[in-house]
Amino acid sequence: MEVVTKKILCDCCKKEKPTQKIKYPVLFTTEQTEGRSVNPYISYQELDLCADCIRINVGIAGSGAMGYNEYKQIHHNSTIWNDFAIKGGS
Ligand SMILES: [Zn+2]
Repeated sequence: MEVVTKKILCDCCKKEKPTQKIKYPVLFTTEQTEGRSVNPYISYQELDLCADCIRINVGIAGSGAMGYNEYKQIHHNSTIWNDFAIKGGS
């Protein structure tokens, strides 16, 4: 019997951890066809990120309902992350 397992590594730290797919703004320094250097620009990419990398990188918190949302900067030692986890993996 052949068993094929699929590993998902965090796109940012490359560690094998439970990840969440998120669309995230990335500052690119190359165009994405031939990789030539260009002036930096923001491109939204679908990334698999672990909880640690999400904590480090996601800096805006949101709350609200019915299209009325409020956004604020997350302070670096905010307790907002205390309940955040990604389930799955080993
Ligand atoms: Zn990571």
